[in-house]
Amino acid sequence: MSGINVTRSSMPPFEEYAEEIKDLWDTHWLTNMGKKHNRLREELCKYLSVKNVSLFANGHLALEAAIASMKLTGEVITTPFTFASTAQAIVRNGLTPVFCDINDEDYTIDVSKAEKLISGRTSAIIPVHVYGSVCDVDGLEKLAKKYNLKLIYDAAHAFGVRIGGSGIGAFGDASMFSFHATKVFNTIEGGCVAYSDNSLTDRLHMIKNFGMDKNGHYPEIGGNAKMNEFQAAMGICNLRHIDDEIEKRRRVAARYTERLSGVNGIKIWREQSGVTHNYAYFPVVFDKAEFGKSRDEAAAALAEHNIFARKYFFPPVNELECYGGRFEAQKTPIAKRISESVLALPIYAGLSIDDADMICDILLGQLL
Ligand SMILES: *Cc1c(COP(=O)(O)O)cnc(C)c1O
Repeated sequence: MSGINVTRSSMPPFEEYAEEIKDLWDTHWLTNMGKKHNRLREELCKYLSVKNVSLFANGHLALEAAIASMKLTGEVITTPFTFASTAQAIVRNGLTPVFCDINDEDYTIDVSKAEKLISGRTSAIIPVHVYGSVCDVDGLEKLAKKYNLKLIYDAAHAFGVRIGGSGIGAFGDASMFSFHATKVFNTIEGGCVAYSDNSLTDRLHMIKNFGMDKNGHYPEIGGNAKMNEFQAAMGICNLRHIDDEIEKRRRVAARYTERLSGVNGIKIWREQSGVTHNYAYFPVVFDKAEFGKSRDEAAAALAEHNIFARKYFFPPVNELECYGGRFEAQKTPIAKRISESVLALPIYAGLSIDDADMICDILLGQLL
């Protein structure tokens, strides 16, 4: 057995991708907002139910560009319970992250604690729909309105997630989705900013294209973060299969839920009411005193069987060594505790129910 990783990248049938990229050998148009780029952008607007989409080379640069496009200053409130990218995007824009603790239910930002962190220097809130679980979007909207703050969601995990009839990317001033190979929907590497305000269109375009406008002038500071045609072709193909992929993930999550709910000392990921989920991750939080195994012991037990679950997200990002202890992690105790006790179990479309059962057997000490 070659082993089971926490995820496995979705790929269309080889022939389908080969067919999709074939005409690139006629046009020789490989990047710079080509036909496939534009088609993917249109299809994503529809699929995500959002007004505008700007495509990027990857999700991180999309988030950096979303932040840059809003001309923020000073401090930005965010969560420490996320991938490093969220905080790094804030810092690389010359802004100071202010870390707000998470709630103990779905591990998204605790809105009741965010208000106390707002200062005269605060210009935005960047919450994360961590694991694809949705933040308290109404509470955040109210807070942002009250203090005149920009609201940018890191929706890297939330591709295809919906609340009632609304796409998750329709909330706030902008949302970043990641199309990295390890995410629910991939363009190999890639990402986008979804937004409603049409005036952001030109600015985002310039930021990803060296700051240059249509007339060859440079009104913006920009870099290079364009999505190329091979990435877009992968996205066009993967989008045809996305509903099926999410349905297969749902079955794995349902099996984990069936096997692991009610077990003493572990807390499993739960669906939120009124939300259409994408089953991006299946995190389990371990309480050693009750369960008998710590998170690290559970991970080691799985690894003995070549199953590689991941400690998403450890450490909390306010503890990253590059920040030199400036952001005291003891101020966000729930994030710290969850970070030290959570394990993301393997979940992807090609994971069989038998494999999910074997993973549960190992965790529960029932493997014969
Ligand atoms: C994956 C991820 C990103 C970065 O996306 P890339 O496409 O890998 O650059 C940002 N934030 C979170 C929470 C992520 O998981």
